[in-house]
Amino acid sequence: MAERTLIILKPDAVQRGLVGSIIARFEQKGFQLIAAKFMKISKALAQKHYAVHKGKPFFERAVQYLSSSPVLVMVWQADDVIKMSRRLMGETFGTEAQPGTIRGDFGCSHGFNLIHGSDSPASAEVEIPLYFKPEELIDYPLAQAHWLYGPPDEA
Ligand code: UDP
Ligand code: MG
Repeated sequence: MAERTLIILKPDAVQRGLVGSIIARFEQKGFQLIAAKFMKISKALAQKHYAVHKGKPFFERAVQYLSSSPVLVMVWQADDVIKMSRRLMGETFGTEAQPGTIRGDFGCSHGFNLIHGSDSPASAEVEIPLYFKPEELIDYPLAQAHWLYGPPDEA
């Protein structure tokens, strides 16, 4: 079933010039780009974004990091995109993330981690409207869909 996820290329991804390399992985995997916005996240928006982590010891640090410099916010779509994009991202910090993952290949920090991705359909439903109006999410047929997904499973 087609699913959507909120992906943010965080301040360090932009400042380190890794935006193109990271987006390439999502494109090559076959995900469909639905929306994108280059912006500076305010402290208030970052607090809303990380509301589920309020009260945890790292909350203030995560808010400060996300709002410290411009980011690229995107919505990507595919069948099961949430589970697959979390796998592409790897463990939370580059210090633990497997090689081959985005966090494992591009970072070695235990404070910065390059990318945010929704962790469940429920999170995506809350996160996407924080950044995009419904009309900013663009529905269009994916030209390569037939060759990407192959024949449907036999019943
Ligand atoms: N974070 C942190 N220290 C921690 C855990 C998380 O600084 O011990 C920050 C980090 O930027 C992370 C964000 O808070 O991306 C949200 O944490 P979460 O556990 O949701 O990790 P993610 O879903 O990004 O892998
Ligand atoms: Mg998370």
